[in-house]
This record gives sequence, C-alpha cells and structure tokens, in this order.
Amino acid sequence: MKEKTLSIIKPDGVSRNLIGKVIDCIENAGLKIASGKMIKMTKDQAKGFYRIHEGKPFFDSVTDFMSSGPCIVMVLEGDSAISKYRELMGSTDCKQAAEGTIRKLYGTDIEKNVVHGSDSQDTAAFEIGYFFNGLEIMAF
Ligand code: ATP
Ligand code: MG
Repeated sequence: MKEKTLSIIKPDGVSRNLIGKVIDCIENAGLKIASGKMIKMTKDQAKGFYRIHEGKPFFDSVTDFMSSGPCIVMVLEGDSAISKYRELMGSTDCKQAAEGTIRKLYGTDIEKNVVHGSDSQDTAAFEIGYFFNGLEIMAF
C-alpha cells in the first residue's frame, strides 16, 4: 500500500555534511521525496514534535539536541513507506543497528542517530502535518 512518512535528517546529520548520503540511501531504496525543506526548531517546537516522549529521562536532552541546529524535514512516499524507511534507518541505538542501515553507517550514539522516521500511520499523519501543509506535498 502506498504510504507517506516523515523523515528528518537531524542536526548531527546536517552539521556533519551527511544530507547527500542520507538522501542517496532514501532514493536507492526506491522511496520518493514528496516534499522537503530545511528548518531550525525552537526548543518548544522540538518538545511539541516529540511530545509522545514527555516525562521520559531523555526528553530534555533529545529536545535540546533537536533544537540545536538546522534539520532537513522530508515527506517520503512509496509502498509501505513507513516500515520500509524504519528498516532503512536501523535501530535507535546505532551500535545495535543492522549493517547497511543509515544509523549503523552514520550514527554516533543512541541520541545522535542522524535520522528520524515515523513509526505508524497515526504518527506519520501527525508528524507530516506538524511541518507541512497539503499544498507543499507532491503527488506521484
Ligand atoms: P525517532 O523517533 O527519532 O525516529 P526512534 O523511533 O528510533 O527514533 P524513539 O524511542 O522514538 O526512537 O526516541 C526518539 C529519539 O530520542 C531517538 O531517535 C533518540 O534521538 C532519542 N533517544 C531515544 N532513546 C534514548 C535514550 N535512551 N537516551 C538518549 N536519547 C534517546
Ligand atoms: Mg520514534
């Protein structure tokens, strides 16, 4: 089934010049980039984005990290895009990520893991709407 998912190249990926490499992985996996832009979140915007994690021990740190510099936010589209992109990213902790995944190739630790991807249809809808309006998204 054709799906849309939200992808973010996190501040560590942008500052380490990994934008092209991440996009290469995405395109090589057959996913289409339906929209994309560079943004810099405020702390409050990062807290709103990761609000599902409010109260967890890493919440303050991850929202500091996500608001520390520019990110690339993208809408990806393709067959089973949500699970396909999660697989392509690899485990949250890059040390446990499978060979060939973006986090294994480029991640530094459990927090600075280069990329974000929506984990369900509900979160994809919320997360895409958080950054994009319908007019900004291409239909393939
Ligand atoms: P994302 O939502 O960014 O795609 P994920 O779904 O693999 O990642 P989540 O459990 O949703 O993982 O955590 C969100 C983000 O919070 C992680 O990607 C990571 O940057 C950070 N994070 C998660 N767990 C930890 C932890 N134990 N310590 C530090 N940071 C963490
Ligand atoms: Mg998550």
